[in-house]
Amino acid sequence: MNIENKQLREAHALLENTTPLGRNDCGSVCEAYCCSDALGDSMELFPYEKDIFEKLDGFEVIDGEIPAVKCNGTCKRENRPLACRIYPLFPLVVNENGEERIRVIYDPRATASCPLCAHKAKLDRRFVRAVRRAGKYLLNDEKTAGYLRKTSEYLTELIELEIKLGL
Ligand code: SF4
Ligand code: SF4
Repeated sequence: MNIENKQLREAHALLENTTPLGRNDCGSVCEAYCCSDALGDSMELFPYEKDIFEKLDGFEVIDGEIPAVKCNGTCKRENRPLACRIYPLFPLVVNENGEERIRVIYDPRATASCPLCAHKAKLDRRFVRAVRRAGKYLLNDEKTAGYLRKTSEYLTELIELEIKLGL
């Protein structure tokens, strides 16, 4: 996969081989539900990914304010979009003492699909660290930072709503 944007390339590379449970394949406990589920669903693309996935076989890009991609339930590991690489986590942008920081959270959108997320399982530290570092890299580019901030606002609202509803 040829990624021209430096920050996106670094983020992809950090999550090339790290996985939620380290050496253990979490897909073996749930029959890779997130991939089979993705058959009828789509993953949001990070800025700069649209052009890449439009050229890759096995993916269908859906254009929109935030472009997304559909897959056929299998892919070459090196061709996974960043959303799949960080799943089921998200590098949330938070403001602390006037500074932007990355806080790695379970993505609330993953609760229904991922047993690790549903049970708030303890994940491999290298994976969590890689997601945090990827978030920090992405903050160094205007477009990827904008996407992270916007999605962070949305996820924060979602989490607050879930708390209010007692979910
Ligand atoms: S749904 Fe969760 S546990 Fe299952 S393969 Fe995907 S990330 Fe791993
Ligand atoms: S792109 Fe690959 S990793 Fe992502 S959901 Fe599809 S098959 Fe799974």
